[in-house]
Amino acid sequence: MTKRVALLGHPVGHSRSPGMHNAAFRELGLDWRYEALDVEPARFAEVLESLPGQGFVGANVTIPHKLRALEAADDPTEVARVVGAANTLSFEGGRVLADNTDVEGFLTALQERAPAAPAGMHALVLGAGGAGRAVVYALMSAGAASVEVWNRHPERAETLVSDLAGVAGETALQSAIAPSKTSIDLLVNATSLGMRHANASPDPREGAEFFKAIPLSADELDDRLTVVDLVYRHDRTPLLRAAQARGSRCVDGFDVLVHQGAASFRIWTGLQAPLGAMRRGATDGEH
Ligand code: NAP
Repeated sequence: MTKRVALLGHPVGHSRSPGMHNAAFRELGLDWRYEALDVEPARFAEVLESLPGQGFVGANVTIPHKLRALEAADDPTEVARVVGAANTLSFEGGRVLADNTDVEGFLTALQERAPAAPAGMHALVLGAGGAGRAVVYALMSAGAASVEVWNRHPERAETLVSDLAGVAGETALQSAIAPSKTSIDLLVNATSLGMRHANASPDPREGAEFFKAIPLSADELDDRLTVVDLVYRHDRTPLLRAAQARGSRCVDGFDVLVHQGAASFRIWTGLQAPLGAMRRGATDGEH
C-alpha cells in the first residue's frame, strides 16, 4: 500500500515541499506520496488525529501550526522542545514523534558553502519567529561567538533571548534594536521579508523597500560577510541580490529547504535523501 506523508499548513499552495519530496520518492523507486493539506488552525488537532488511520506515516508542519504540532506530540526531541516548534512528525504505534529539522537544514546548508561556519563567528539574525528560533539555536549549538537578534517587534526578540539563554553555552546572546553591524561576519534573514507572491510581476522598488525595513543598508554588505536568506525564490531575494553584487558568500533558501527536507526524509524512510533530485523537484516550475 502506498505510504502517505502530509504537509499541514495554512496556506500551503505556494509550498515547494510536495515537488521536492515526490521527486525524492520517485528517484529511489519508493511507493510513497507527499500531499499538501490546507488545514485551518481550528481543525489542526482533528486532522492530525485522523492521519494514521488513512495511511499517513508522518507529516511536515508549517505556518501557522509548528507550535501546536509540538504541543500535540507524545515524544518531542530535545531540539524541538528547546526551539519551541516542530516541523516534522512521525506516527509510530499510536504515538506522535516530533522533531525540528530546520536546525539541521540551516546548519548543513551553511556549512556546505562555508565549512568552518559558524564557529567563532559574530552573527546577526533578523527575525524572531519560528525560523529565527531554529537559526539562533543552531548557531549557538555550533559554537558561534555571538548572536544578536533583531525583530520588527522587539519584545519578540527579547522573549527569544530569555527562552534560549539557558542553552547559549559560550555564545554571547542578546537582542538588539540597533545591532553592532561593524563586527558581524554572518547575517541571516529569518523574517518573511523578500517573499514574493506567486505570479507577482518584478517590482523595481523591492530592494529599497527591503532595506528600509531592516536595520542595515545594502552598502554595509561586503566580501567579508556570509549571508543566508531563508526565504526561497528562483529570481533571488532582494537581500541575496545585494549581497551577491557586493561579493558576500551567499546561501539561499532553497539550500536550507532541501537540507531540512532531507533530514525529514531520513526520519520517515530511514534512507539518505537524494539531494540532487530534491533540489530539482523544489525548483521545477519556479519562475
Ligand atoms: P513566523 O514565525 O510567522 O515569523 C515571521 C517573521 O517575519 C517574524 O520575525 C516577523 O516579525 C517577520 N516579519 C514579517 N513581516 C515583516 C515585515 N514587514 N518587516 C519586518 N519583519 C517582518 O514565520 P517563520 O516560520 O519564522 O518563517 C519566516 C520565513 O522563513 C518565512 O518566509 C518562511 O518561508 C522561511 N522559512 C524557510 C525555511 C527554508 O527551509 N528555507 C524554513 C523555515 C522558514 P514580527 O514578529 O515583528 O511580526
